[in-house]
Amino acid sequence: MTTRHALITGASSGIGRALALEFASHGIHVTVAARRLELLEEVVREIERAGGQAAALALDVANAEEVERAVRALDEQVGGLDLVVANAGMGRECWSGKLNWERCASTIAVNVSGAVATLVAVLPRMVDRGHGHIVGISSLAQYRGLPRNAAYSASKAFLSTFLEGVRVDLRGTGVSVTDVRPGFVRTPMTAANKAPMPWLLDADEAARIVWRGIESKNAVVAFPWQLASVVRTASLLPASLYDRAVGPASGRTKLPKSP
Ligand code: NAD
Repeated sequence: MTTRHALITGASSGIGRALALEFASHGIHVTVAARRLELLEEVVREIERAGGQAAALALDVANAEEVERAVRALDEQVGGLDLVVANAGMGRECWSGKLNWERCASTIAVNVSGAVATLVAVLPRMVDRGHGHIVGISSLAQYRGLPRNAAYSASKAFLSTFLEGVRVDLRGTGVSVTDVRPGFVRTPMTAANKAPMPWLLDADEAARIVWRGIESKNAVVAFPWQLASVVRTASLLPASLYDRAVGPASGRTKLPKSP
């Protein structure tokens, strides 16, 4: 069955916006969701100018109940979503010695609760219909706890493991599951990064790779392959070696003096 209607969260900028343009270029009607309606309307206009079809939906994924209601209402409105992409995400670098609950909670609310609420809102209906595809935008950061990114890495590890569990449950139901793990992509999220970003990709290149993975119904789309190979190898290192290798990147050269 072909994909007719897709929902993408976090589509006002970066990877989500590029995915919306890519999907629309393949004839898919795309609903673009995020908090900033004016930016979404620009994305819709750009898709329409190129001859595609799109609609905007104002949605704060940090409010999981609202997400569930809105995604179900959209599913009914379009006569069944074929493809749902939980892309909305945030990352705030912070040395763990300065973490507080507010920083962790906002990451968990968007990257974990928001993504899961988006996907489960349609899952039982897709299973009833015997058709559908859910996609989560995780990260290569999910393989290990990265320096200055404890909450972010953990949130993406949650998402990847969740998607794997769903995928094994849904074998044979007609519903596909794809876990997307990008490396560095040039977007507003990475614009302020001072650290080197090896094998950095543009958002439209990333969107083309993701589209090919979705079309092929791949279980995991980890890219670029060079960085994916590095992080997969790092995931095999014992903690003692891993800590020594990445510890200096935490940015702490001296421990604070005791009072
Ligand atoms: P971005 O900041 O350009 O896009 C994030 C999108 O999520 C924006 O549209 C933003 O408005 C939306 N968003 C954030 N909080 C939201 C909320 N509460 N409700 C609704 N929408 C919200 O960054 P990006 O790089 O395009 O990130 C997209 C996804 O890709 C994220 O999940 C990110 O973790 C993941 N990712 C990015 C990179 C990278 O290098 N850029 C690498 C790996 C994974």
